[in-house]
Amino acid sequence: MKLKLYKNEHDRKYLRSECIEKPFIDSKIVAHQLRNSLLLDTIRGKNPVGLASNQVGLNSRVFVAKINNQWHDFINPRLVGNSGSTVRFREGCLSLNPNKEFKTKRYEWVKVSYENKKGDRVERKFKGFDAIIIQHELDHLNGLLCKDGGVNE
Ligand SMILES: [Zn+2]
Repeated sequence: MKLKLYKNEHDRKYLRSECIEKPFIDSKIVAHQLRNSLLLDTIRGKNPVGLASNQVGLNSRVFVAKINNQWHDFINPRLVGNSGSTVRFREGCLSLNPNKEFKTKRYEWVKVSYENKKGDRVERKFKGFDAIIIQHELDHLNGLLCKDGGVNE
């Protein structure tokens, strides 16, 4: 399958759709496709820190993110806890105007339950910039973009 980066919301069918939890065996393939997509000309060189499946036209609940300088697969992730308190941030997105940053409000930390690449469901807490990346990617899976502003209070 040929994957391409969907941009500028012109294909709302993907970017504005909620992604669906699917069995690990299928989702693992999607995680692999996402890692391959990181090599696309439209993505490589933009120093990406995350990529969600609907950014490349897939609809599985999967994203990959660069945490501590290493790429991790997040399969069927669920937000299971947050700091309550928020921080303000400015975010860019591969799927939006590359020269633009959007003001967001994000939780200081989040706790996420997800299946790792071995298929084990694990729970992990992320803070700082990692927490921002995770929330940005979780938003994608819910059909939201950073231009929507993040945490809604
Ligand atoms: Zn994005």
